Amino acid sequence: MVKVVVIGGGWAGCAAALSAAKTGAHVLLLERTDLLLGTGLVGGIFRNNGRYTAAEEAIAMGGGDVFVAMDANTKHKGFSFPGHKHASTYDVTTMEPLVKKILQNYGIEIRTYTRVVDVVKLGKKIQALVVNDGAEIDGDVFIDATGTAGSMGNCLKYGNGCAMCVLRCPAFGPRVSVTAKAEVKEIMGRKADGSFGAMSGSCKLGKDSINKEIRDQLDREGVVVLPLPEKLQKGSSLGKKACTQYALPEYAANLVLLDTGHVKLMTPFFSIEDLRKVPGLEQARYEDPYAGSVGNSVRYLGMAPCSSSLKVEGVENLFCCGEKSAILVGHTEAIVTGLLAGNNAVA
Ligand SMILES: Cc1cc2nc3c(=O)[nH]c(=O)nc-3n(C[C@H](O)[C@H](O)[C@H](O)COP(=O)(O)OP(=O)(O)OC[C@H]3O[C@@H](n4cnc5c(N)ncnc54)[C@H](O)[C@@H]3O)c2cc1C
Repeated sequence: MVKVVVIGGGWAGCAAALSAAKTGAHVLLLERTDLLLGTGLVGGIFRNNGRYTAAEEAIAMGGGDVFVAMDANTKHKGFSFPGHKHASTYDVTTMEPLVKKILQNYGIEIRTYTRVVDVVKLGKKIQALVVNDGAEIDGDVFIDATGTAGSMGNCLKYGNGCAMCVLRCPAFGPRVSVTAKAEVKEIMGRKADGSFGAMSGSCKLGKDSINKEIRDQLDREGVVVLPLPEKLQKGSSLGKKACTQYALPEYAANLVLLDTGHVKLMTPFFSIEDLRKVPGLEQARYEDPYAGSVGNSVRYLGMAPCSSSLKVEGVENLFCCGEKSAILVGHTEAIVTGLLAGNNAVA
């Protein structure tokens, strides 16, 4: 039986582990924190626009386990918000254990608190991974699903410092790219102004910190759009966002709030002072990241050069998926590339 080791337990790594297991491999999934889902612990939007088709295709092709689980755990289904139709939001507060259970049911071995810090290579093949306690983990094929945020130093260098986001580097240690450790030169994403990286595009407000009227509307409809006075509009900041599909003029003219279990504010660059000038948000507080008032984490700093089968160039037994595989932004994209990488790693 082929042994596949997946590094990184975000949506991409979870999907890769699932499809590799379903294709007949023995699968080990390594995650440096205490939780699966990575940035999927704070996102929530899916099935919006073309992602609807992607989810349906994954389900039709037999790889839909996690989409079915997301559908069964939605806060809201089939609603629209600026630029996006037939969206759903899954409940970010309860999704992780459901996904973990699915993986365990397929016999996938999950090791949390396990951070890959290096690789052992022989020629063009990875022989083993070195993890944080110094142990070596061998395998036949490896899948890099470590995302593109890199270490906390990247948020210091390219962002506004550690925003204390859900990836929790100070506690769990830096995110380390397996591709980079295998001596493959990675690709860095640039914004339109030429600078590197992009800021995660949303922040979460504490539900109890916004007024009852807005909270009730969010509970009922899933979305609230609050028009902004001109002096609070920050159109020029939209270009900092990783998720350009939400960098539309409507997101400068309004505050767009979505219910994902948290209150998801679709822009990451409002100071508390400005936010509290908006009627109904006089007591608003950020819940994720804790320093949301200065932005969010920075991503797209280390993508693997790879083929269309998601094999990493220059290493015979390394595949990649999710944000590691391209400038893509989203749970759905992470999941479908994960499904492909997991399948291709075994096939
Ligand atoms: C604040 C925020 C909100 C978002 N909202 C949405 C949304 O509503 N809808 C949507 O579709 N997308 C959203 N996104 C984007 C989406 O979350 C990502 O594009 C997608 O989930 C990326 O998945 P991934 O698995 O590739 O990477 P990640 O989620 O970054 O996961 C990588 C995982 O690898 C682990 N890891 C890293 N290095 C190592 C190592 N050396 N050893 C072991 N483990 C390691 C990390 O701990 C992490 O769990 C959001 C992103 C952010 C940051």
